[in-house]
Amino acid sequence: DIVSDYLTSPLPRRRSVAVDVGGVLVGGDAPVVVQSMTNTDTADIDATVAQVAALHRAGSELVRITVDRDESAAAVPHIRDRLARLNIDVPLIGDFHYIGHKLLADHPACAEALAKYRINPGNVGFREKKDVQFGSIVETAIRYNKPVRIGVNWGSLDQELLTRLMDENQANGFPLTAQQVMREAIVQSALISAQMAEEIGLGRDRIILSAKVSQVQDLISVYAELAKRSNHSLHLGLTEAGMGSKGIVASSAAMGILLQQGIGDTIRISLTPEPGGDRTREVQVAQELLQTMGFRQFVPVVAACPGCGRTTSTVFQELAHKIQEDIRRNMPIWREQYPGVEELQVAVMGCIVNGPGESKHANIGISLPGTGETPAAPVFVDGKKVATLRGPRIAEEFEQMLATYIENRYGM
Ligand code: SF4
Repeated sequence: DIVSDYLTSPLPRRRSVAVDVGGVLVGGDAPVVVQSMTNTDTADIDATVAQVAALHRAGSELVRITVDRDESAAAVPHIRDRLARLNIDVPLIGDFHYIGHKLLADHPACAEALAKYRINPGNVGFREKKDVQFGSIVETAIRYNKPVRIGVNWGSLDQELLTRLMDENQANGFPLTAQQVMREAIVQSALISAQMAEEIGLGRDRIILSAKVSQVQDLISVYAELAKRSNHSLHLGLTEAGMGSKGIVASSAAMGILLQQGIGDTIRISLTPEPGGDRTREVQVAQELLQTMGFRQFVPVVAACPGCGRTTSTVFQELAHKIQEDIRRNMPIWREQYPGVEELQVAVMGCIVNGPGESKHANIGISLPGTGETPAAPVFVDGKKVATLRGPRIAEEFEQMLATYIENRYGM
């Protein structure tokens, strides 16, 4: 049955209609795409270009920017041009709320420069107004041949739809809980809006759906329904996931379960930035989620033991951390210089108990000496012991061996 199937191995990917977002395919047979969003004022061209570039360098394959007023809409083509001059061709997605229809109509260069428009059906007006405003964005998308994401968010849910479903639930004697009604309203808001867009003439290969909520169980339930009731390409994301480890754990739990069921074509991990924190963290977490689940390979894996009472030295932790950081920093260049380097596996271990075994399984690994062990660190390359390092420069010497290994194995 489905539960035991997906617990033992990922279910086959749900068949969705692929959507071309500025040259990046989302859905169909394409791998799950990593995306992120800036938190700069889009009207501040310098800051936005710098952050888009940083997110892209970190591995974001699509980047969304807020387009909330005339000044930001006017800035979009300049941001696009500046990125092109930097040889950065990451597709930009415009995030529109309330007056998106007006901004797109008044700023044709913005409409052209963006690779996709995100519409929130919960805040494009009510009744006839909604039809006109939503329709206007969809018509712009058709005119410029752009896809849209219909992005429902429980915090700005279509209140008319929710009220109607609650009234129906009451009239039927409350067969559903309030939470179930809310989930159904979210799902219906996405599906009804998608249907409206298709009736206006937007192809299904131009529509991506998302339905973001802030609770893990709600997210799993809502996306399972969307997956069942449509074949639209799906963007996964837990909204207001939270800060630090809470946001990472909540997003990974929710999206991990959905991805394991074959659901999801692109993901964004929304983390509340720590003061002065690095925005690229959300890209790193999204990549790590996909990589640890075995869906994609982005960066070489550094396996490190957690440490325990058998080693009181922190040398191996520091070395493992430094290698991981160096790898991340070098990846943008390595991707071009060393094709396939993302498959590399490195092990940095703390003592003889698991050190040699784990190191043998990696492409290159080192087993540092634990407390009371002979101060010698055997290095294993492709399963064979090739050297034993000693003395105060073990870390530097191992890093040099790693660099040589990468050059020899992946250098063109
Ligand atoms: Fe502890 Fe050694 Fe295992 Fe690391 S490899 S966790 S130091 S027993």
